[in-house]
Amino acid sequence: MVAEALQRLYERIHEVCIRVGRDPGEVRLMGVSKFHERDALEEAWEGGLRLFGENRVQEAVRKFSGFKQDHPGTELHMIGSLQRNKARAAAALFDCIQSVDRDELISELGTLTLKKEQPLMVLLELHTGEASKAGYSGVEHLFRATERVLQFPNLAIRGLMTMAPFTEDREIIRGSFRSLVSARDQLQVRFPDSDWSCLSMGMSNDFEIALEEGATLLRIGTALFGERRP
Ligand SMILES: *Cc1c(COP(=O)(O)O)cnc(C)c1O
Repeated sequence: MVAEALQRLYERIHEVCIRVGRDPGEVRLMGVSKFHERDALEEAWEGGLRLFGENRVQEAVRKFSGFKQDHPGTELHMIGSLQRNKARAAAALFDCIQSVDRDELISELGTLTLKKEQPLMVLLELHTGEASKAGYSGVEHLFRATERVLQFPNLAIRGLMTMAPFTEDREIIRGSFRSLVSARDQLQVRFPDSDWSCLSMGMSNDFEIALEEGATLLRIGTALFGERRP
């Protein structure tokens, strides 16, 4: 089931990219595996998926510490709000924290990774209208956050992430993605030596719009693994 859903997703991504003149090779698909167990992870891995996302540290540690060892090449990203007291466990397990949404968290992660061999990748999360209000509230805040990230040698900035509001209104969703692109363009000008290539936007219900607007990483849960059973 998961393998078929994965194939269908790759096909749809391919179609949208061709339609809007983008190279499908620049788009990464993440399987958001929260609430799904090892059998589902295995199936997705067998189908060729290597990038996974989780939104809770404890659940991710339980499911992925063994899985990553048994499946070399697996890349795991944190996509949920990260509390300071979980930062240490998160920095040890995840390859990337996508949900960096405040300066204290940057300092915490920066300090925790000072002695790591591999840098920890980070995305800055921009709030573009979604109800939970997670994320930085504007590009000025992103400028300051970037300056802070750059003070830490083992934090590697890779781009931005956002969640569109949960609505049927496609133009509101599109507007949300466009604000992320605009923020990325401004950051690119201000910090041209940093890598802004990752635009993490688009979920099961809105990934086609996200692709049209320039997403390079799609975070897909339901359309890949089915409904979550919390
Ligand atoms: C759960 C989640 C997703 C995936 O949502 P689906 O609608 O199931 O595809 C993507 N991003 C974040 C931050 C999430 O928490």
